Amino acid sequence: MTLTALSVASEVFPLIKTGGLADVAGALPLALTAEGIASHVLLPGYPSVLAALEGARTVLDFNPLFGGTAHLLAGRAGGLELFVLDAPHLYARPGNPYSGPDGADWPDNPQRFAALAQVAARLGLGALPGFQPDVVHAHDWQAGLAPAYLHYAGTRRPGTVMTVHNLAFQGQCDRAWLETLGLPPEAWSIDGVESYGGIGFLKAGLQLADRVTTVSPTYAAEIRTPAGGMGLDGLLRYRGSAVSGILNGIDTAVWDPAGDPFLPSPYTAATLQAREASRAALRARLGLVDDPAAPVIGIVSRLSWQKGMDTVLEALPALLARGMRLAVLGAGDQGLQNAFAHAAATHPGQIGLHLGYDEGLAHLIQAGCDALLVPSRFEPCGLTQLCALRYGAMPVVARVGGLADTVIDANEMALAAGVGTGIQFASATRDALEAALDRVATLWRDREAWARIQHNGMASDVSWAGPARRYAALYREVSVR
Ligand code: ADP
Repeated sequence: MTLTALSVASEVFPLIKTGGLADVAGALPLALTAEGIASHVLLPGYPSVLAALEGARTVLDFNPLFGGTAHLLAGRAGGLELFVLDAPHLYARPGNPYSGPDGADWPDNPQRFAALAQVAARLGLGALPGFQPDVVHAHDWQAGLAPAYLHYAGTRRPGTVMTVHNLAFQGQCDRAWLETLGLPPEAWSIDGVESYGGIGFLKAGLQLADRVTTVSPTYAAEIRTPAGGMGLDGLLRYRGSAVSGILNGIDTAVWDPAGDPFLPSPYTAATLQAREASRAALRARLGLVDDPAAPVIGIVSRLSWQKGMDTVLEALPALLARGMRLAVLGAGDQGLQNAFAHAAATHPGQIGLHLGYDEGLAHLIQAGCDALLVPSRFEPCGLTQLCALRYGAMPVVARVGGLADTVIDANEMALAAGVGTGIQFASATRDALEAALDRVATLWRDREAWARIQHNGMASDVSWAGPARRYAALYREVSVR
Protein backbone atom coordinates (compact mmCIF):
# COMPACT_ATOMS: atom_id res chain seq x y z
CA MET A 1 0.00 0.00 0.00
CA THR A 2 1.31 3.44 -0.87
CA LEU A 3 1.46 5.85 2.05
CA THR A 4 1.57 9.60 1.80
CA ALA A 5 3.99 11.49 4.00
CA LEU A 6 4.42 15.18 4.64
CA SER A 7 7.96 16.02 5.68
CA VAL A 8 8.41 19.40 7.39
CA ALA A 9 11.83 21.02 7.48
CA SER A 10 13.40 24.46 7.46
CA GLU A 11 16.26 23.37 5.20
CA VAL A 12 16.16 21.19 2.11
CA PHE A 13 19.15 20.57 -0.16
CA PRO A 14 19.69 21.91 -2.83
CA LEU A 15 17.37 24.85 -2.07
CA ILE A 16 18.59 26.06 1.31
CA LYS A 17 21.24 24.53 3.55
CA THR A 18 23.23 25.36 6.63
CA GLY A 19 23.93 21.78 7.71
CA GLY A 20 23.21 18.08 7.49
CA LEU A 21 19.48 18.55 8.14
CA ALA A 22 19.16 19.90 4.60
CA ASP A 23 20.89 16.86 3.13
CA VAL A 24 18.54 14.51 4.95
CA ALA A 25 15.39 16.47 4.17
CA GLY A 26 16.38 16.57 0.50
CA ALA A 27 17.43 12.95 0.08
CA LEU A 28 15.12 10.91 2.31
CA PRO A 29 11.87 11.70 0.41
CA LEU A 30 13.45 10.51 -2.83
CA ALA A 31 14.74 7.31 -1.24
CA LEU A 32 11.32 6.64 0.30
CA THR A 33 9.75 6.41 -3.16
CA ALA A 34 11.33 2.98 -3.58
CA GLU A 35 9.59 1.95 -0.35
CA GLY A 36 6.13 2.90 -1.59
CA ILE A 37 5.99 6.21 0.28
CA ALA A 38 4.85 9.29 -1.62
CA SER A 39 6.59 12.17 0.14
CA HIS A 40 5.90 15.86 -0.03
CA VAL A 41 8.12 18.36 1.69
CA LEU A 42 6.89 21.57 3.32
CA LEU A 43 9.45 24.33 3.82
CA PRO A 44 9.53 28.10 4.34
CA GLY A 45 9.55 30.39 1.32
CA TYR A 46 13.05 31.78 1.78
CA PRO A 47 14.19 33.84 -1.25
CA SER A 48 16.44 31.05 -2.56
CA VAL A 49 13.60 28.55 -2.26
CA LEU A 50 11.11 30.71 -4.14
CA ALA A 51 13.69 31.36 -6.84
CA ALA A 52 14.28 27.64 -7.38
CA LEU A 53 10.67 26.48 -7.29
CA GLU A 54 9.48 25.19 -10.66
CA GLY A 55 5.89 25.18 -11.82
CA ALA A 56 4.73 27.03 -8.70
CA ARG A 57 1.00 27.37 -8.23
CA THR A 58 -0.94 28.72 -5.28
CA VAL A 59 -2.97 26.00 -3.61
CA LEU A 60 -4.03 27.68 -0.36
CA ASP A 61 -4.30 31.24 0.92
CA PHE A 62 -3.86 32.28 4.52
CA ASN A 63 -5.08 35.72 5.43
CA PRO A 64 -3.73 36.48 7.87
CA LEU A 65 -1.01 34.09 9.04
CA PHE A 66 0.80 35.62 12.00
CA GLY A 67 0.19 39.19 10.92
CA GLY A 68 0.57 38.99 7.17
CA THR A 69 -0.83 37.47 4.03
CA ALA A 70 0.60 34.11 3.08
CA HIS A 71 0.14 31.55 0.33
CA LEU A 72 0.96 27.92 0.09
CA LEU A 73 2.67 27.17 -3.20
CA ALA A 74 3.01 23.72 -4.70
CA GLY A 75 5.80 22.99 -7.12
CA ARG A 76 8.91 20.95 -7.75
CA ALA A 77 12.64 21.37 -7.37
CA GLY A 78 15.58 19.02 -7.01
CA GLY A 79 13.29 16.12 -7.94
CA LEU A 80 11.10 16.81 -4.89
CA GLU A 81 7.39 17.52 -4.59
CA LEU A 82 7.30 20.68 -2.53
CA PHE A 83 4.91 22.81 -0.59
CA VAL A 84 6.43 26.22 0.03
CA LEU A 85 5.00 28.64 2.55
CA ASP A 86 5.25 31.98 0.80
CA ALA A 87 4.97 34.46 3.67
CA PRO A 88 7.12 37.48 2.83
CA HIS A 89 6.60 39.09 6.23
CA LEU A 90 8.24 36.03 7.81
CA TYR A 91 10.80 34.73 5.33
CA ALA A 92 11.72 37.37 2.72
CA ARG A 93 14.99 38.22 4.44
CA PRO A 94 18.55 38.04 3.22
CA GLY A 95 21.18 35.56 4.33
CA ASN A 96 20.95 32.90 6.99
CA PRO A 97 17.46 31.47 7.67
CA TYR A 98 17.65 32.06 11.41
CA SER A 99 19.55 35.26 12.14
CA GLY A 100 19.96 38.80 10.93
CA PRO A 101 23.10 40.50 9.63
CA ASP A 102 24.29 41.09 13.20
CA GLY A 103 24.25 37.32 13.83
CA ALA A 104 21.45 37.54 16.40
CA ASP A 105 18.39 35.31 16.01
CA TRP A 106 15.43 37.04 14.39
CA PRO A 107 13.22 38.12 17.31
CA ASP A 108 10.12 36.74 15.62
CA ASN A 109 11.59 33.24 15.11
CA PRO A 110 8.84 31.75 17.30
CA GLN A 111 6.22 33.05 14.85
CA ARG A 112 8.28 32.21 11.77
CA PHE A 113 8.52 28.56 12.69
CA ALA A 114 5.16 28.24 14.42
CA ALA A 115 3.71 29.34 11.07
CA LEU A 116 5.52 26.49 9.32
CA ALA A 117 4.26 23.99 11.89
CA GLN A 118 0.74 25.36 11.84
CA VAL A 119 0.50 25.01 8.08
CA ALA A 120 1.89 21.47 8.38
CA ALA A 121 -0.85 20.64 10.87
CA ARG A 122 -3.54 22.11 8.62
CA LEU A 123 -2.27 20.03 5.72
CA GLY A 124 -2.22 17.03 8.02
CA LEU A 125 -5.85 17.63 8.88
CA GLY A 126 -6.84 17.70 5.23
CA ALA A 127 -6.96 21.45 4.45
CA LEU A 128 -5.87 20.80 0.88
CA PRO A 129 -8.46 18.83 -1.07
CA GLY A 130 -6.93 15.71 -2.58
CA PHE A 131 -3.94 15.65 -0.24
CA GLN A 132 -4.24 13.60 2.94
CA PRO A 133 -0.95 12.58 4.50
CA ASP A 134 -0.85 9.41 6.58
CA VAL A 135 2.23 10.67 8.39
CA VAL A 136 3.58 14.10 9.28
CA HIS A 137 7.34 13.93 9.79
CA ALA A 138 8.79 16.92 11.64
CA HIS A 139 12.52 17.62 11.40
CA ASP A 140 14.25 19.51 14.23
CA TRP A 141 12.94 22.33 16.40
CA GLN A 142 11.74 24.47 13.50
CA ALA A 143 9.05 21.86 12.82
CA GLY A 144 8.67 20.78 16.45
CA LEU A 145 5.28 22.38 17.01
CA ALA A 146 3.67 20.43 14.15
CA PRO A 147 3.01 17.33 16.32
CA ALA A 148 1.74 19.68 19.04
CA TYR A 149 -0.79 21.47 16.82
CA LEU A 150 -1.96 18.09 15.53
CA HIS A 151 -2.22 16.72 19.06
CA TYR A 152 -4.25 19.67 20.35
CA ALA A 153 -6.53 19.69 17.29
CA GLY A 154 -8.31 16.88 19.12
CA THR A 155 -9.62 15.22 15.98
CA ARG A 156 -8.60 12.27 13.87
CA ARG A 157 -5.10 13.06 12.70
CA PRO A 158 -2.20 11.49 10.81
CA GLY A 159 0.62 9.70 12.62
CA THR A 160 3.51 11.91 13.69
CA VAL A 161 7.27 11.40 13.76
CA MET A 162 9.73 13.86 15.29
CA THR A 163 13.33 13.54 14.15
CA VAL A 164 16.13 15.18 16.10
CA HIS A 165 19.11 16.06 13.93
CA ASN A 166 20.81 17.95 16.73
CA LEU A 167 19.50 18.16 20.29
CA ALA A 168 21.63 21.26 20.90
CA PHE A 169 19.17 23.41 18.97
CA GLN A 170 15.90 23.36 20.89
CA GLY A 171 13.97 26.46 19.79
CA GLN A 172 13.06 27.94 23.15
CA CYS A 173 10.88 31.01 23.67
CA ASP A 174 9.10 32.83 26.45
CA ARG A 175 5.85 31.57 27.92
CA ALA A 176 4.19 34.86 26.89
CA TRP A 177 4.13 33.57 23.29
CA LEU A 178 1.67 30.78 24.06
CA GLU A 179 -1.49 32.53 22.90
CA THR A 180 0.16 34.32 19.97
CA LEU A 181 1.38 30.97 18.68
CA GLY A 182 -2.17 29.65 18.77
CA LEU A 183 -1.49 27.03 21.40
CA PRO A 184 -4.35 26.23 23.80
CA PRO A 185 -3.95 27.00 27.53
CA GLU A 186 -3.72 23.28 28.34
CA ALA A 187 -0.57 23.07 26.22
CA TRP A 188 1.17 24.93 29.06
CA SER A 189 2.09 21.83 30.97
CA ILE A 190 5.05 19.58 31.55
CA ASP A 191 3.17 17.03 29.43
CA GLY A 192 2.82 19.65 26.70
CA VAL A 193 5.05 22.36 25.28
CA GLU A 194 6.45 23.67 28.57
CA SER A 195 10.21 23.33 28.83
CA TYR A 196 12.21 24.79 31.71
CA GLY A 197 9.78 27.67 32.21
CA GLY A 198 9.49 28.54 28.52
CA ILE A 199 7.99 27.05 25.39
CA GLY A 200 10.25 24.44 23.82
CA PHE A 201 9.59 23.79 20.15
CA LEU A 202 11.74 20.67 20.02
CA LYS A 203 10.55 19.55 23.45
CA ALA A 204 6.95 19.81 22.24
CA GLY A 205 7.69 17.48 19.36
CA LEU A 206 9.60 15.04 21.56
CA GLN A 207 6.72 15.00 24.00
CA LEU A 208 3.79 14.80 21.62
CA ALA A 209 4.88 12.98 18.46
CA ASP A 210 3.91 9.32 18.17
CA ARG A 211 7.53 8.36 17.56
CA VAL A 212 10.84 10.13 18.07
CA THR A 213 13.86 9.30 16.02
CA THR A 214 17.36 10.57 15.96
CA VAL A 215 19.97 9.99 13.35
CA SER A 216 22.05 7.19 14.82
CA PRO A 217 21.55 4.43 17.38
CA THR A 218 24.49 5.60 19.50
CA TYR A 219 23.18 9.19 19.62
CA ALA A 220 19.75 7.79 20.56
CA ALA A 221 21.43 6.16 23.57
CA GLU A 222 23.59 9.20 24.39
CA ILE A 223 20.67 11.63 24.52
CA ARG A 224 18.98 9.51 27.17
CA THR A 225 21.88 10.24 29.54
CA PRO A 226 22.41 13.41 31.59
CA ALA A 227 25.74 13.92 29.83
CA GLY A 228 24.22 13.89 26.34
CA GLY A 229 20.61 14.83 26.98
CA MET A 230 20.98 18.62 27.04
CA GLY A 231 18.26 18.84 29.65
CA LEU A 232 15.85 16.59 27.76
CA ASP A 233 17.24 13.19 28.78
CA GLY A 234 14.50 12.65 31.36
CA LEU A 235 11.79 13.11 28.76
CA LEU A 236 13.64 10.91 26.28
CA ARG A 237 13.96 8.14 28.86
CA TYR A 238 10.28 8.55 29.67
CA ARG A 239 9.37 8.09 25.97
CA GLY A 240 11.04 4.67 26.19
CA SER A 241 10.76 2.54 23.09
CA ALA A 242 9.06 5.35 21.17
CA VAL A 243 12.61 6.70 20.71
CA SER A 244 14.94 5.05 18.22
CA GLY A 245 17.96 5.80 16.06
CA ILE A 246 18.04 5.50 12.29
CA LEU A 247 21.34 6.31 10.59
CA ASN A 248 21.46 8.85 7.80
CA GLY A 249 22.64 7.94 4.36
CA ILE A 250 24.10 10.26 1.76
CA ASP A 251 22.89 10.95 -1.74
CA THR A 252 25.14 8.58 -3.65
CA ALA A 253 24.34 10.31 -6.95
CA VAL A 254 25.55 13.68 -5.63
CA TRP A 255 28.48 12.02 -3.84
CA ASP A 256 29.85 9.74 -6.53
CA PRO A 257 33.57 9.83 -7.26
CA ALA A 258 32.97 8.02 -10.55
CA GLY A 259 30.84 10.86 -11.91
CA ASP A 260 31.56 13.91 -9.78
CA PRO A 261 31.66 17.09 -11.90
CA PHE A 262 33.74 18.85 -9.23
CA LEU A 263 36.70 16.47 -9.71
CA PRO A 264 39.39 16.77 -12.37
CA SER A 265 39.40 13.03 -12.91
CA PRO A 266 36.72 10.54 -11.86
CA TYR A 267 37.70 7.33 -10.11
CA THR A 268 36.39 4.15 -8.54
CA ALA A 269 37.81 1.69 -6.02
CA ALA A 270 39.44 -0.06 -9.00
CA THR A 271 41.18 3.12 -10.18
CA LEU A 272 42.26 4.68 -6.90
CA GLN A 273 45.47 5.97 -8.44
CA ALA A 274 43.31 8.50 -10.29
CA ARG A 275 42.76 10.23 -6.93
CA GLU A 276 46.22 11.71 -7.55
CA ALA A 277 44.67 14.26 -9.93
CA SER A 278 42.33 15.43 -7.18
CA ARG A 279 45.17 15.54 -4.66
CA ALA A 280 47.12 17.76 -7.05
CA ALA A 281 44.08 19.97 -7.71
CA LEU A 282 43.47 20.31 -3.98
CA ARG A 283 47.09 21.25 -3.34
CA ALA A 284 46.91 23.84 -6.09
CA ARG A 285 43.61 25.22 -4.83
CA LEU A 286 44.77 25.63 -1.23
CA GLY A 287 48.45 26.31 -1.88
CA LEU A 288 49.74 23.15 -0.23
CA VAL A 289 53.27 21.96 -0.92
CA ASP A 290 53.60 18.34 -1.94
CA ASP A 291 55.13 15.86 0.49
CA PRO A 292 54.43 12.25 -0.47
CA ALA A 293 56.03 11.10 2.79
CA ALA A 294 53.01 12.25 4.79
CA PRO A 295 49.26 12.27 4.24
CA VAL A 296 47.05 15.28 3.61
CA ILE A 297 44.45 15.56 6.37
CA GLY A 298 41.13 17.11 5.31
CA ILE A 299 38.45 18.90 7.31
CA VAL A 300 35.01 19.93 6.00
CA SER A 301 33.10 21.26 8.93
CA ARG A 302 31.24 23.94 10.73
CA LEU A 303 33.92 25.63 12.83
CA SER A 304 32.43 25.12 16.26
CA TRP A 305 33.02 23.70 19.70
CA GLN A 306 30.72 20.77 18.90
CA LYS A 307 32.95 19.79 16.02
CA GLY A 308 36.07 19.83 18.22
CA MET A 309 37.78 22.41 16.05
CA ASP A 310 39.57 23.97 19.02
CA THR A 311 41.19 20.57 19.60
CA VAL A 312 42.47 20.55 16.03
CA LEU A 313 44.17 23.88 16.71
CA GLU A 314 45.73 22.44 19.87
CA ALA A 315 47.01 19.40 17.98
CA LEU A 316 48.39 21.43 15.05
CA PRO A 317 52.02 21.37 16.24
CA ALA A 318 51.86 17.56 16.49
CA LEU A 319 50.22 17.29 13.08
CA LEU A 320 52.82 19.50 11.42
CA ALA A 321 55.68 17.78 13.25
CA ARG A 322 54.61 14.55 11.56
CA GLY A 323 54.97 16.24 8.16
CA MET A 324 51.23 16.12 7.54
CA ARG A 325 49.39 18.77 5.56
CA LEU A 326 46.01 20.13 6.57
CA ALA A 327 43.25 21.17 4.13
CA VAL A 328 40.41 22.96 5.90
CA LEU A 329 37.06 24.09 4.55
CA GLY A 330 34.79 25.59 7.14
CA ALA A 331 32.83 28.49 8.47
CA GLY A 332 31.45 29.31 11.86
CA ASP A 333 32.61 30.82 15.14
CA GLN A 334 34.55 34.01 14.57
CA GLY A 335 37.21 33.08 17.13
CA LEU A 336 37.88 29.75 15.45
CA GLN A 337 37.88 31.33 11.99
CA ASN A 338 40.48 33.84 13.18
CA ALA A 339 42.59 31.12 14.79
CA PHE A 340 42.56 28.95 11.65
CA ALA A 341 43.35 32.00 9.50
CA HIS A 342 46.30 32.80 11.75
CA ALA A 343 47.54 29.20 11.64
CA ALA A 344 47.29 29.11 7.84
CA ALA A 345 49.16 32.41 7.52
CA THR A 346 51.88 31.15 9.87
CA HIS A 347 52.34 27.84 8.01
CA PRO A 348 51.92 28.55 4.30
CA GLY A 349 52.19 25.44 2.17
CA GLN A 350 51.37 23.23 5.15
CA ILE A 351 47.92 24.46 6.14
CA GLY A 352 45.49 25.32 3.35
CA LEU A 353 42.31 27.10 4.41
CA HIS A 354 39.13 28.25 2.79
CA LEU A 355 36.75 30.06 5.11
CA GLY A 356 33.20 29.96 3.83
CA TYR A 357 30.78 27.58 2.27
CA ASP A 358 31.87 25.90 -0.96
CA GLU A 359 30.12 22.78 -2.24
CA GLY A 360 32.70 22.11 -4.98
CA LEU A 361 35.66 22.39 -2.62
CA ALA A 362 33.92 20.04 -0.17
CA HIS A 363 33.89 17.43 -2.94
CA LEU A 364 37.49 18.13 -3.92
CA ILE A 365 38.68 17.74 -0.33
CA GLN A 366 36.93 14.38 -0.04
CA ALA A 367 38.61 13.23 -3.25
CA GLY A 368 41.98 14.87 -2.67
CA CYS A 369 42.76 14.35 1.01
CA ASP A 370 44.12 11.10 2.37
CA ALA A 371 42.31 11.14 5.71
CA LEU A 372 39.29 13.15 6.78
CA LEU A 373 39.33 14.32 10.39
CA VAL A 374 36.05 14.54 12.36
CA PRO A 375 36.93 15.15 16.03
CA SER A 376 33.41 16.02 17.24
CA ARG A 377 32.55 16.28 20.93
CA PHE A 378 29.12 15.00 20.01
CA GLU A 379 27.79 14.05 16.62
CA PRO A 380 24.18 13.00 16.02
CA CYS A 381 25.14 11.21 12.80
CA GLY A 382 27.66 13.17 10.77
CA LEU A 383 27.67 13.10 7.01
CA THR A 384 31.21 14.05 6.10
CA GLN A 385 32.63 10.73 7.32
CA LEU A 386 30.10 8.94 5.08
CA CYS A 387 31.27 10.99 2.11
CA ALA A 388 34.87 10.20 3.08
CA LEU A 389 34.15 6.45 3.08
CA ARG A 390 32.67 6.73 -0.39
CA TYR A 391 35.57 8.82 -1.69
CA GLY A 392 38.42 6.67 -0.36
CA ALA A 393 39.50 9.25 2.22
CA MET A 394 40.12 7.44 5.49
CA PRO A 395 37.82 8.82 8.20
CA VAL A 396 39.54 9.61 11.50
CA VAL A 397 36.73 10.19 13.96
CA ALA A 398 35.91 10.65 17.63
CA ARG A 399 33.98 7.63 18.94
CA VAL A 400 30.68 9.43 19.55
CA GLY A 401 27.17 9.32 18.11
CA GLY A 402 26.91 8.40 14.47
CA LEU A 403 30.68 8.51 14.05
CA ALA A 404 30.90 5.47 16.34
CA ASP A 405 28.20 3.72 14.31
CA THR A 406 29.55 4.30 10.81
CA VAL A 407 33.33 3.88 10.98
CA ILE A 408 34.89 0.53 11.82
CA ASP A 409 38.15 1.11 13.66
CA ALA A 410 41.00 -0.45 11.69
CA ASN A 411 42.66 -2.06 14.69
CA GLU A 412 44.70 -5.19 14.21
CA MET A 413 41.77 -7.55 14.67
CA ALA A 414 39.62 -5.58 12.25
CA LEU A 415 42.41 -5.46 9.68
CA ALA A 416 43.00 -9.20 10.04
CA ALA A 417 39.28 -9.75 9.54
CA GLY A 418 39.36 -7.38 6.56
CA VAL A 419 36.73 -5.00 7.90
CA GLY A 420 38.44 -1.80 9.14
CA THR A 421 37.29 1.40 7.42
CA GLY A 422 38.97 4.16 9.44
CA ILE A 423 40.30 5.24 12.80
CA GLN A 424 38.28 5.96 15.91
CA PHE A 425 39.65 7.77 18.95
CA ALA A 426 38.16 8.04 22.39
CA SER A 427 37.21 11.69 22.63
CA ALA A 428 37.89 15.15 21.29
CA THR A 429 40.92 15.89 23.41
CA ARG A 430 44.36 16.93 22.33
CA ASP A 431 45.97 13.75 23.65
CA ALA A 432 43.49 11.42 21.98
CA LEU A 433 43.77 13.32 18.72
CA GLU A 434 47.56 13.21 18.78
CA ALA A 435 47.48 9.47 19.44
CA ALA A 436 45.11 9.07 16.49
CA LEU A 437 47.51 11.06 14.28
CA ASP A 438 50.27 8.65 15.33
CA ARG A 439 48.11 5.77 14.14
CA VAL A 440 47.49 7.60 10.86
CA ALA A 441 51.25 8.07 10.41
CA THR A 442 51.94 4.39 11.14
CA LEU A 443 49.29 3.22 8.73
CA TRP A 444 50.55 5.60 6.03
CA ARG A 445 53.84 3.73 6.04
CA ASP A 446 51.97 0.46 5.41
CA ARG A 447 50.51 1.42 2.07
CA GLU A 448 49.00 -1.99 1.51
CA ALA A 449 46.98 -1.75 4.73
CA TRP A 450 46.00 1.83 3.88
CA ALA A 451 44.70 0.73 0.49
CA ARG A 452 42.74 -2.11 2.09
CA ILE A 453 41.07 0.37 4.43
CA GLN A 454 40.22 2.59 1.46
CA HIS A 455 38.68 -0.34 -0.37
CA ASN A 456 36.71 -1.43 2.70
CA GLY A 457 35.41 2.11 3.12
CA MET A 458 34.41 2.44 -0.51
CA ALA A 459 32.55 -0.86 -0.28
CA SER A 460 30.50 0.37 2.73
CA ASP A 461 26.85 0.97 2.01
CA VAL A 462 26.35 4.65 2.83
CA SER A 463 23.27 5.03 0.64
CA TRP A 464 19.77 5.87 1.78
CA ALA A 465 18.43 2.43 0.83
CA GLY A 466 18.71 0.86 4.31
CA PRO A 467 17.64 3.96 6.26
CA ALA A 468 14.67 4.52 3.92
CA ARG A 469 13.49 0.97 4.64
CA ARG A 470 13.58 1.67 8.36
CA TYR A 471 11.72 5.00 8.05
CA ALA A 472 9.11 3.34 5.84
CA ALA A 473 8.56 0.65 8.49
CA LEU A 474 8.15 3.38 11.12
CA TYR A 475 5.70 5.31 8.94
CA ARG A 476 3.62 2.16 8.54
CA GLU A 477 3.58 1.66 12.31
CA VAL A 478 2.36 5.17 13.13
CA SER A 479 -0.09 5.45 10.26
CA VAL A 480 -2.13 2.53 11.57
CA ARG A 481 -4.19 4.48 14.06
P1 ADP B 1 26.31 19.40 10.67
O1 ADP B 1 26.34 19.20 12.14
O2 ADP B 1 26.98 20.69 10.27
O3 ADP B 1 24.96 19.24 10.05
P2 ADP B 1 27.03 17.04 9.11
O4 ADP B 1 28.31 16.30 8.98
O5 ADP B 1 25.83 16.26 9.51
O6 ADP B 1 27.28 18.26 10.10
O7 ADP B 1 26.68 17.73 7.71
C1 ADP B 1 27.48 18.72 7.20
C2 ADP B 1 27.17 18.86 5.73
O8 ADP B 1 27.52 20.18 5.31
C3 ADP B 1 27.98 17.92 4.84
O9 ADP B 1 27.24 17.66 3.67
C4 ADP B 1 29.23 18.76 4.53
O10 ADP B 1 29.83 18.37 3.33
C5 ADP B 1 28.64 20.12 4.42
N1 ADP B 1 29.53 21.22 4.79
C6 ADP B 1 29.91 21.59 6.04
N2 ADP B 1 30.68 22.69 6.00
C7 ADP B 1 30.78 23.02 4.69
C8 ADP B 1 31.44 24.09 4.00
N3 ADP B 1 32.14 25.03 4.64
N4 ADP B 1 31.32 24.12 2.65
C9 ADP B 1 30.62 23.17 2.00
N5 ADP B 1 29.97 22.16 2.59
C10 ADP B 1 30.04 22.09 3.92
